[in-house]
Amino acid sequence: MSSLSLDSVSKRYGETTALSDVSLDIEDGEFFTLVGPSGCGKTTTLRAVAGFESPTEGAVRFGGVDVSGVPPEDRDVGIVFQQYSLFPHMTVRENVAYGLQFTDHDYDPDARVADLLDLVGLAGMGDRDPNALSGGQQQRVALARALAPNPDVLLLDEPMSALDARLRERLRREVRRIQAELDVTTLYVTHDQAEALAVSDRVAVMNDGHVEQVGTPQEVYREPATRFVAEFVGENNVFDGRATEAGVEVDGTTFAVPVDARPGESVTLCVRPESMQVGGATNALTGVVDYAEFLGDAVRIGLDWQGQAVVVRVPAIDLDSVPADGDDLTVGFDSDAVVTL
Ligand code: ATP
Repeated sequence: MSSLSLDSVSKRYGETTALSDVSLDIEDGEFFTLVGPSGCGKTTTLRAVAGFESPTEGAVRFGGVDVSGVPPEDRDVGIVFQQYSLFPHMTVRENVAYGLQFTDHDYDPDARVADLLDLVGLAGMGDRDPNALSGGQQQRVALARALAPNPDVLLLDEPMSALDARLRERLRREVRRIQAELDVTTLYVTHDQAEALAVSDRVAVMNDGHVEQVGTPQEVYREPATRFVAEFVGENNVFDGRATEAGVEVDGTTFAVPVDARPGESVTLCVRPESMQVGGATNALTGVVDYAEFLGDAVRIGLDWQGQAVVVRVPAIDLDSVPADGDDLTVGFDSDAVVTL
């Protein structure tokens, strides 16, 4: 196992800047996730760690040692990609054993492969042809193959994006369990913020080639450092206003939110849909119902408030009836539910 760090890594392809001054410190045994929209630089970061790309500037370090110039096959990383990328002409067992061929190790190959198949829940399937497996099973084989040589670092690039939602949820818990059991330093790439929150020790939210925020799932959700993080990680109602003596004024409505800013200064307020309630609260606003979705456990209501979309999510049990489209509806939030940017 090894810690992993990126020190001011930039990567340019001609005119395109894929990564701009990315610095990350990932602890030994940590499950660390890069999350962000398509094209933000997640895969480029992972490829720089794997050694498939050389940074234009900056350094990648494993256990504090600069690995610039170390080719991918000597970096002691295991990789699982989005595509299953198993060898179709080999059995499951041979695919996993393949991972052992290129490294020095003391394992008895047969015992090691059996252990790994057991670990990923495929005991007894060693003789199968990979094509005779489901997508989820194929990714388990790919994971076993990547883990076979006991790598210092495990790199997972959207390994579940080809699977259906239910299977993805199950497999992500499995991956997390296996990672924790082996205590292997893991860098996980996903565009799915809910997945990132669910599995990670910490996440880096990336945008346009740079890191916006690094933190635990709770930190990036509850204390977003930037507007981008506030809007990308979960849903958020973002209100742009100005500080006043009484709080913050947004389009003529004053919310009694205490802020550090001086009167007249711009302030951005973020309120999560689940932090809003139907009916008045310390801070109230009345809008027109654009849509109201009954979700079983909750009702999600979209309001048009003076031209701004506001989303409210309330427990279904709190509502006598689902509001109708076009109704006027007053919703509110408490001042301590607000995050100020
Ligand atoms: P996705 O989720 O869609 O895979 P990503 O966050 O992984 O996106 P990257 O694949 O790292 O993003 O790409 C970051 C930027 O670098 C993009 O603008 C991409 O077009 C560009 N890029 C990546 N590889 C190359 C390359 N070989 N040549 C030129 N530009 C590239």
